[in-house]
Amino acid sequence: MTATDAFVGLGSNMADPSAQLAGAVARLAALPGTTLLAQSPFYRSKPVGPQDQPDFVNGVVWLSTELTALELLDQLQAIEQAHGRERTQHWGPRTLDLDLLLYGDETISEERLTVPHAELANRDFVLQPLLDLDPHRRLPDGRSLAHLRQHCPDNSLQKLNPVARTPFPPG
Ligand code: ATP
Ligand code: CA
Ligand code: CA
Repeated sequence: MTATDAFVGLGSNMADPSAQLAGAVARLAALPGTTLLAQSPFYRSKPVGPQDQPDFVNGVVWLSTELTALELLDQLQAIEQAHGRERTQHWGPRTLDLDLLLYGDETISEERLTVPHAELANRDFVLQPLLDLDPHRRLPDGRSLAHLRQHCPDNSLQKLNPVARTPFPPG
């Protein structure tokens, strides 16, 4: 079976967001038939939609996977569940959100899955980490991510430093 490059966007704004993302990266790297090729820096961003919620932490991972796109979506949703994701308010606070951004050069339009992700072109917190991983990446329709990044709305992105490890013993 051939492997496909897939980019997954990660987001969290509850319960130690950077730790949620780090845990999710480890789970993604352990998926069957899947290799973690690279991980972007994490960014702090202002929420999309309801503003009465904490800032988000976002990042992107680059995978090579033998899973089909729908199998990968199933796995992403299982990881969200394992992180205590509850679907309440639309675009509301969440412990973990995993979006399939790109799956090879495929364009997918199914009830459960739209690829490239429908909002990709409008989100600096997705475009910037994608560009960190692959500055020359284009969408299946040929549009360059770098061009889209220049023209998308501003969510006050702030690059985060690598997470400091808690010293042990504490203090
Ligand atoms: P947004 O899609 O605007 O980022 P969201 O991430 O908050 O919003 P969710 O509640 O996490 O939305 O997902 C709603 C549904 O979107 C999921 O049940 C899933 O079937 C569907 N979906 C469609 N395309 C994708 C995709 N590329 N990645 C993840 N989920 C997708
Ligand atoms: Ca999302
Ligand atoms: Ca989602």
